[in-house]
Amino acid sequence: MPWIDGNFVPTDHKLPVTNPATGSAITQVHLGDHQLTENAIKSAAVAQKEWESTSPLQRGACLKAVAKHLKDHIDRLAGLLTAEQGKPLAQARGEVEYAASFFEWFGEEARRLSGRISPHPERSREFHILPTALGVAGLITPWNFPLAQGAKKAAAALAAGCSIVWKPSEFTPLVALAMGRIFQECGLPDGVCQIIPGIGSEVGESITSSEKISIISLTGSTETGRRVMENSSRTLKHMSLELGGNAPFIVLPDAELDKTAEDLLSLKLLVSGQVCVTANRVFVHEDLLDNFVDLLSTKLETKMIGDGSDPSNHAGPVIHDDAKEGINRLVNDALSKGAEIAAQNSNFEDDPRCESGSFSPFIIMTGITPEMRIANEEIFGPVIAIQTFKETKEVISSANSTPYGLAAYVYGGDLAQASHVARSIDAGIIGVNEWRPLKAEIPFGGSKQSGIGVEGGAEGIQEFMELKVISIPV
Ligand code: NAD
Repeated sequence: MPWIDGNFVPTDHKLPVTNPATGSAITQVHLGDHQLTENAIKSAAVAQKEWESTSPLQRGACLKAVAKHLKDHIDRLAGLLTAEQGKPLAQARGEVEYAASFFEWFGEEARRLSGRISPHPERSREFHILPTALGVAGLITPWNFPLAQGAKKAAAALAAGCSIVWKPSEFTPLVALAMGRIFQECGLPDGVCQIIPGIGSEVGESITSSEKISIISLTGSTETGRRVMENSSRTLKHMSLELGGNAPFIVLPDAELDKTAEDLLSLKLLVSGQVCVTANRVFVHEDLLDNFVDLLSTKLETKMIGDGSDPSNHAGPVIHDDAKEGINRLVNDALSKGAEIAAQNSNFEDDPRCESGSFSPFIIMTGITPEMRIANEEIFGPVIAIQTFKETKEVISSANSTPYGLAAYVYGGDLAQASHVARSIDAGIIGVNEWRPLKAEIPFGGSKQSGIGVEGGAEGIQEFMELKVISIPV
């Protein structure tokens, strides 16, 4: 049920929330509609004034209490994440810790907010330049990290003094709704955080078209980003958009192959490849191809795919059957144009409990060429699509030949060379010999059509603030 003014509010519209590993409904969620969203935004606007006037130290204390609460209740929250999203419990625990790190980080950053005094041309005056909260923030999040994507936004917005109206994905609303009570127990005044499950075209568009919302922070596909930006333009909102990716993963000739294969597989096992920063295009130096594919295939064989609630599984299902079909279409397009399947792991088929789940096989493909759809579109699934290259210059150009610029990975032994390649790639974050560089401490955002603005770091809080200048007689 929507969480509004510190209470769950029932509605007439209900949608089942499905466990993607079993295909069965976990519960029915009450969805918000246009009217309910408008009312929630009005309350958030009233609560915002009071919240903004609290001391940054007090806001920070509340956020740090949320971080502690998340860590103290990690098992319950991870269980909920696994049930509605499908990721294995170990990954779900990792997500809860990652989410907590943003509440800790912005809990500290709140007290570092400061303005400055600037000289006025007239001697009897001075300028006070003050960062102030933007107002009510509309947060719209996807289903792949239902807790962490909300945490990144909510922690920064609340630290800045904004109230929030959060619309989680309709596929994974449960862990987001659990945050309502957590915020309340940690001292957040009622009305400062409103959480409204609903579909994008209704609740999402009510948020993006509201005059009372000052900033939209969306994580979603580039297509949704365009639509959200268009809707928000009528009321000239600030925008923070974390959108789609098409990350290159480059294996230079002197890369340490075993570690590279291990890291690539870990990256693809995360949420079964349904991650914006996952390796979408793998570029392997042609001399390494056979050895690299052998190593990857051997490692893939040892991985178990199944229900995430079974701790022996390394990967879970994809989010729903439509996602599975989308992945199949990309694989079939590549096969029809000459690509080959080098290895495949479908061991979820041995488990009768997975019969009705949305499982997609883990596939390693070779012979991928730039004209195939799989090289140009987000796969968002467990497919490792490998291309080869001869020259470093050539791979840099291929890596950059995409409208996306979210993440990239470069593996190589000569760090000067690997660093040169990393610096030549247009992307918001680049891991050199590292597959998981995202942390609360750094600003992360996409370049090109992967987004606008950043999350995390000292910069993340600024997304929710604007400057007010007061000319004061002295
Ligand atoms: P999506 O774009 O379909 O949906 C994202 C959110 O937007 C959902 O809550 C959805 O209901 C809402 N939405 C949809 N249409 C809307 C509209 N017209 N107005 C307002 N809200 C609307 O994305 P998804 O399928 O949930 O997630 C996968 C996508 O998210 C991928 O493209 C992935 O790359 C991207 N993503 C990006 C990042 C990042 O940090 N850049 C992180 C995770 C996911």
